[in-house]
Amino acid sequence: MRACLPWYAVVTFALTYPAWAATPGPLPPEDDKQLARTILKELVEIKTTHESGSTVAALAIQQHLLTAGFPAGDVVFVAPADRPTKGNVVVRYRGKGTGKPVLFLGHLDVVEANPQDWSVDPFKLTEKDGWFYGRGSIDMKDGDAALLEALIRLKREHFVPARDVIAAFTADEEAGGDSNGPAFLLKEHRELVAAGLTVNLDGGGGAFKDGKRVYFEMGTSEKTYVTYTLETTSPGGHGSLPGPDNAIYRLADGLGRLQSYKFPIMLTATTRASFEKFASLDPGPQSADMRAVAQTPPDPAAAERLSQVVRLNAQLRTTCVATLISGGHAENALPQRARATIQCRMMPGDTAEDVQSALTAALNDPKISVTLDAPPIVSPESAPTAQITAKVAGVVHSMWPGVPIVPTMASGFSDDRQTRNAGIASYDLSGVWADVDENRAHGRDERVGVQEFDESVEYTYRLVKAMSKKD
Ligand SMILES: [Zn+2]
Repeated sequence: MRACLPWYAVVTFALTYPAWAATPGPLPPEDDKQLARTILKELVEIKTTHESGSTVAALAIQQHLLTAGFPAGDVVFVAPADRPTKGNVVVRYRGKGTGKPVLFLGHLDVVEANPQDWSVDPFKLTEKDGWFYGRGSIDMKDGDAALLEALIRLKREHFVPARDVIAAFTADEEAGGDSNGPAFLLKEHRELVAAGLTVNLDGGGGAFKDGKRVYFEMGTSEKTYVTYTLETTSPGGHGSLPGPDNAIYRLADGLGRLQSYKFPIMLTATTRASFEKFASLDPGPQSADMRAVAQTPPDPAAAERLSQVVRLNAQLRTTCVATLISGGHAENALPQRARATIQCRMMPGDTAEDVQSALTAALNDPKISVTLDAPPIVSPESAPTAQITAKVAGVVHSMWPGVPIVPTMASGFSDDRQTRNAGIASYDLSGVWADVDENRAHGRDERVGVQEFDESVEYTYRLVKAMSKKD
């Protein structure tokens, strides 16, 4: 996915925008700009849907890196033995060996696109009215192209990083992914991707509102996906002789109690900073509540008022919701069993055990069992430390002076959960700007602004350079 901007459509921006808003950012040298566009076109035109796989794209990237002069031993193509189309390519740009490597991530796969739904061919890059159209143009072949171009440019300039820079172009991030690249690399080829820090270009980035720059998002965390099954049984029997013990009614009563249960308010360093930043960006009706909720301890009345907004509620607490239900076995028989699926998104720091205990307590019926479907891929927060924030601000402000940088928690998940689960602090730092009200990733007529893409190429070059420095 392109980690959706969790705040867009939430915040009612003030009527006055700050003055730094509209100036275009610096562009790369002409040759680099053209090369990045050529690579973007090449990648968009290699179909990398779940069905097609990512191997052809990974091999194309490998070829570019070899041509640029990276030693063959440092440009490794790997695919799972039983999934040869789910290829990944990992390049190591060797540094002076000061500090643990920094790992850049870019997924190569895209969501399926039905040409009938589009106004242009989704698997051709079409330039029209200042936009590049094509599947993956903003999720995230733009980031892949910018990253690859940055590596080629740095190599040509004989840049030597302080620490190794690793870039992994990977398979199967989008839905249906059964050969997720980062998971496979961390499990089977750990030596290729062992790093002290991950930068993922699949999220973050700048937000325009009415054509003006309003903020730049640094993704530091996401919620953890975890699912439980509730089950209850009853003796059953003939449908003509109902008694008090009925699995369907018992489950329904339990679900009713669950519906009114709210997990406690939980603030992280990220969400506290998000609320503070957005309160200052948006002197609107919610800003006083946002400030009050960012305090320690958070103001419960303010939290309660903000919780009325679905997207803000998701920022404030772990959520669980019934998504599937089944029960009974025949029209004319009393049910012997009823089941429900409860889908939860845990706050970073919450645990599957704690959530299970809370569900059990809220159900308040020992005859309803709660079981965990699968152990979650726990994704702890990568704190927006002063050090990382300063580093990111240095790059962002060299491009777009003065824009506020907001750390954010995504309510969905990305490949960051793999690297964070492996103990590597991970930040989403795409350099593409897009309108807060536009979200075409995964949808029809996906597009990226031409000027915004060109700027992101220059930004990514500066980002790789800055992140390769010793901490
Ligand atoms: Zn994505």
